[in-house]
Amino acid sequence: MDYILSIDQGTTSSRAVVFDRAGQPVAMAQREFAQHFPKPGWVEHDANEIWHTQLAVMQEALAKGGITASQLRAIGLTNQRETTVLWDRQTGEPVAPAIVWQDRRTVAHCEALRAAGRADLVARKTGLVLDAYFSGTKLAWLLDHVPGARARAERGELAFGTVDSWLVWKLTGGRVHATEPSNASRTMLFNLKTGNWDPQLLSLLNIPASVLPRIIPSCGVLAETDAALLGQSVPIAGWAGDQQAALFGQACFAPGMAKNTYGTGCFMLMNTGDQPVVSRHRLLSTAAWQGPEGSERARAYALEGSVFMAGATVQWLRDGLQIIQSAPEIEALAASVPDTGDVFLVPAFAGLGAPDWDGQARGTLLGMTRGTSRAHIARAALEAIALQTADVFHAMSADSGLPLQELRVDGGACRNNLLMQIQADVLGVPVVRSQVTETTALGAAYLAGLATGYWSGAAEISAQWQEERRFEPQWTATQRQDRQARWRQAVDRSRNWAT
Ligand code: ADP
Repeated sequence: MDYILSIDQGTTSSRAVVFDRAGQPVAMAQREFAQHFPKPGWVEHDANEIWHTQLAVMQEALAKGGITASQLRAIGLTNQRETTVLWDRQTGEPVAPAIVWQDRRTVAHCEALRAAGRADLVARKTGLVLDAYFSGTKLAWLLDHVPGARARAERGELAFGTVDSWLVWKLTGGRVHATEPSNASRTMLFNLKTGNWDPQLLSLLNIPASVLPRIIPSCGVLAETDAALLGQSVPIAGWAGDQQAALFGQACFAPGMAKNTYGTGCFMLMNTGDQPVVSRHRLLSTAAWQGPEGSERARAYALEGSVFMAGATVQWLRDGLQIIQSAPEIEALAASVPDTGDVFLVPAFAGLGAPDWDGQARGTLLGMTRGTSRAHIARAALEAIALQTADVFHAMSADSGLPLQELRVDGGACRNNLLMQIQADVLGVPVVRSQVTETTALGAAYLAGLATGYWSGAAEISAQWQEERRFEPQWTATQRQDRQARWRQAVDRSRNWAT
């Protein structure tokens, strides 16, 4: 028997999953690591801790499954995106803590660039909204604030990478400094059309080209692990950022196919085929993956909509309002009333993401009467997750001109059946939950397995994809339109509150 080992390096934990030929997980290990918040709005990780926990879970997953490195056909890698690492090429030591994607320390830099009229240039070249979320200004910050870093970078002594590059550097014993398009497209330095670093963006952010990793495909035998790590060397053959990997793991190979992941936030991605789509509705345009021409994993792009508060809204009901004790309890509570009684909750706790992008919006609860109970609020919270998703969904359909026929779903909160039913009702298309919930790790495994002939092609993988449950829409078109119009009124009232 041989297997694929998938490395899933997330924001709060490092995970490793071994998959078999049927695409089923056979062994898994996971370790959390520390989150550092040195100042308000700052979020840091220790890149060495990321590496040590990742290596440990790789070894642990193999041990649990009784599997040796000689039984591994390949390794697939997926990772938290945008988080920025800068290290010394000689010693392999990070020169500073990694700046995590959630970190807001470079907001002022972004505002200055916006004031200088650079947002259009960035959007046109990168497909991104000019924002501190992406790696570019984080890297500039490190070069400007770590003593001596800029001079050393200019002498070629330092290496920059998102977490994928950092892990591959470590996995190969410092022999490979590379990234691939799905991660590179989150740096704000990558030109979506040329598929390469963009000199004009590098000069805009004052980044010396000498720190940058080489860009290689997401699928193909890309590197070999250092033999000392797992007992013998294993090819790293597939590699993509977490949301793009989930899109692949959900077998969304054809243009117009989309998935939504319900975790802390919601991330909806739609495959738009071999050309990036310029969003007219404030979505992000991003590289999905790039492999051999003529295959299902040839160059593909995606539209992406990120909703900041999804499962986090449920956490707020649990920890802030304390009207439930655990997240799954929300389902029975919300189901105890037939509707929200015209109550709306706009969970703009940290502003609004796509498609509104309003950093000044704040959480808003409205429409309450003396008859309103905690059950109505719980139901309004679930509706809010579904309605935010619907806003992104409609923006995506309008941008791509590809009307969505169904939505594939994954992530922790998609286990909530009532939420999924409301989602189908609000969207007016079926919502389909997949059987394997580890879609992110599976996507990386699929990329690696396709590159090494472990799986034959898209047809074999699409056949493995199995739906666990399908939720059919039950609302009439009028019900749907009325609810959405009312929701948009509620969103308007949440806007521009913090100053
Ligand atoms: P992440 O990867 O972002 O940490 P997960 O995919 O693990 O998130 O999902 C956890 C999130 O899902 C939490 O925010 C939690 O509140 C929410 N969640 C978990 N179970 C349910 C449920 N049954 N109903 C609604 N929300 C849930």
